[in-house]
Formats: sequence, structure tokens, C-alpha cells
Amino acid sequence: MPVLPKPYPDEVVGSVVARACVHTGLPMRRLLQSVFESQRSSCSFLLGDNTGSLAHRAGLERSEFLFKHTMFPYAVAYMAPETQEQLASKALAPRPREDSLSSITKNVSHGVAYRRVCSKCIAENMQQYGESYWHRKHMLPGVLVCIRHGEPLLETSIELRGRSHQSSVALPHEVLDLRKSPTALPREFSLRIAAISGEALEGKSLRSHDWLSCYREQAKSKGYVLPSGDVAGTLAAHVLRNHFGQQYLAMTGCPVSNNPRNTWPTLMFRPRNENNFATPKHVLMRVFLETGPEKDEATPPVYLVPGKRLKDYAQMDAKTAAKVRAQIQQLALAQKRMTVQGLLIQAGAWAAFKHHRARFTETAALLEEFKQSDQAERQIGGRPYWRKRLPSRYGAIGAGACASQTEQIAGNEKDR
Ligand SMILES: [Zn+2]
Repeated sequence: MPVLPKPYPDEVVGSVVARACVHTGLPMRRLLQSVFESQRSSCSFLLGDNTGSLAHRAGLERSEFLFKHTMFPYAVAYMAPETQEQLASKALAPRPREDSLSSITKNVSHGVAYRRVCSKCIAENMQQYGESYWHRKHMLPGVLVCIRHGEPLLETSIELRGRSHQSSVALPHEVLDLRKSPTALPREFSLRIAAISGEALEGKSLRSHDWLSCYREQAKSKGYVLPSGDVAGTLAAHVLRNHFGQQYLAMTGCPVSNNPRNTWPTLMFRPRNENNFATPKHVLMRVFLETGPEKDEATPPVYLVPGKRLKDYAQMDAKTAAKVRAQIQQLALAQKRMTVQGLLIQAGAWAAFKHHRARFTETAALLEEFKQSDQAERQIGGRPYWRKRLPSRYGAIGAGACASQTEQIAGNEKDR
């Protein structure tokens, strides 16, 4: 029976599993099957999913493991207290369903494409422990600096989502291809974003605070007021967009679209808005209201930026996910099946998805769910390929209108 190593301070759950593999020499699949005492052989790098088994093997209390070694506290930091409690009890259930935390997965990994490291933390950890590990505070959306050292974080080539992130057992000191983050922010903003994100991760008592009312009051005190006395939300959203830059906002998973009326900051300023906003949006809003400019005569009016637009991957992702979702519903109604490629081709996003998979986070999550469904033409988990179970005269029945296209590219397993 494998025992997991005792987690280091702020070590993320996936790192504990990776070190266990390194220490025992077991492949991750075998190690996890033993830990979970089931056929289950994967585990979310950021959330761990089955906290009970993992905590037990690491010698920690379940709640300590959940709050100190997963991204759970960050994901729920700005949710209503009752929602936080519901999610925590789901996560701490003795045998949680595999998908019980899927609703918050997006909240934590949407804006982080690749695992990140701090070179000073690696050096310190090597000196102190003889090995390095993956820190939670380096994986927070929009955080570009190490909270401890103030050093810029470096990006690895290991994706933080999708299947590859669950199979890599590399530790930070073993990763050689490190690169600077593709975007930069003024140091003052970076440090505040890191600090406020860090508070959320530590579960500092953020609950029961009416954040949205607070934001409205702060925006007004900065001069963003309409003649009616309401917040000038559209204008403030526009200034927020210029304050951080669209490239950074898109990288963080919080792009502000060109339509100023329906952007997330505008909605956040709207009175009586019951929407749940993801943690990174609260962090950005708070930092904007702290560090952003006050409205004065020099504040430019809202206008749509002319010229060539950067590719808005978040928008493409949302559109693709909507199309794919609609197709899946149609397949379910018609009791038909289709391959993942078929779905992406029909959504017109096969090439974009293939080349920029890490940016299509919502679509990727949807496709992962789809693969487990009855509508997926090939199922993971060892179920026989369905066509083999049908008499040959049925041919490609069920593959839908897309059969010929999917045939052409079927077999290219690495792109699945
Ligand atoms: Zn550091």
C-alpha cells in the first residue's frame, strides 16, 4: 500500500502525487489505483478530486489537505457562504463523485495555461529538502510574480489542463525549458494581484462581504458617476481594460470584449446583480479600484478601438463551446454518436483547437465530459469500440453527417 510523502508548505496536490511516483518508482496510473483502491487512475493536479484517500495516505486531516494543498479555497473565496459550505462538504465526502468539483475547476485553471515556477523557490527548496515541488501560489490566474520573492514567475511547457497535466511527474528543478510570461504588468499591479490572490488562497475571511456593493461605492468615489447618480459602469470597465491591457486580461481568462455594455466589469457594477463572478475577476476589480486612475477631464470617452484586433481566444472558446454543446444535445436526442474531431469540425474550430488547445479551456472541459458520454463514438475506459459490436451492414450508422470527414482524420490519435 503506497504512502504519499508529507506535503511541503503550499505544495499543490498534484505535486505530492508526482513526488510519490518519483520516490516509489511506480507509474502514476498504478500509484493512483492503489491510493484510491479502485480502477481510477487519474487525479486533478490542482484539486485532487478525492481528497479523503489522498489526505489519509499523506497523513493529514481531510480538511487540512483540502484547504492547504488544493486550489479549493481560492476557487470558492468570493462565493456565498452557503455555496462554500455545500462545495466543501461535497469535496470532503468520504467517496466524492468524480465530477463533484467540476463546477469549480474552471474557476481555478481557466486563466493558467501552463505550470509556473519561481527560480528562487526552486533553489531554496533544493537546499532545504533536496528536491523541489509545485507551489499553489505560482499557479494562480493572473499572478505573474512569486508572492514570497517578488520575482517574475517562469512558465514551463507543461499544460495545466487536459490529460497531459495528469501524467507528468516532472518536478520544477527537472524542467529545463523555462520561459518568461508572454505578458507583463507594472510591478505595483503585479504585486497587488499576487497579494490579493494569495489572501483568497489562504481562505482569509472573505465570506459574507458584499463585494459588489463595495465595488460600486469605490467606483463612485473615484468619479465614475452618471448624472443619475448610478455608477458609470461602461466607462469604468473601459478604463479597467486599458489599465491592465487586453492581452493580459485574455491570458488571465477575463477578457473585456469590445462591446462595452456587456463586459464582466460592467455587469459587476450593475446593481442587484446576482451573478457569481469567478475569483480572478474579483481580484482584478479590487486591484483596479485600488490602483486605477480616477475619472477626470482627461479620461477618454468610451469608443471601440479601431484597427486590427488581437485574436480573442476566450470569445472563440465560448462560441465553440456553445456550438459543441448544442451539437451534443442534438446527438443525444437523435441517439447518435460522433467523434470529438467530428464535433470540432462541425463547430468550425478543429484547426484552431488543435493548435491552441490550452486556450480553449471551456471547450476542452466540455469535450472531456463528452468522451465519457454515450454520444462519444470512442469511449475511454476500455469499453469495446462500438462498431465492432454491430453487424457490418450497419456501416457507419450513428456517425451522423460528419462521418466522411471524421473518417479522413480518424486514427490520428495524438490529436485526440
Ligand atoms: Zn519564490
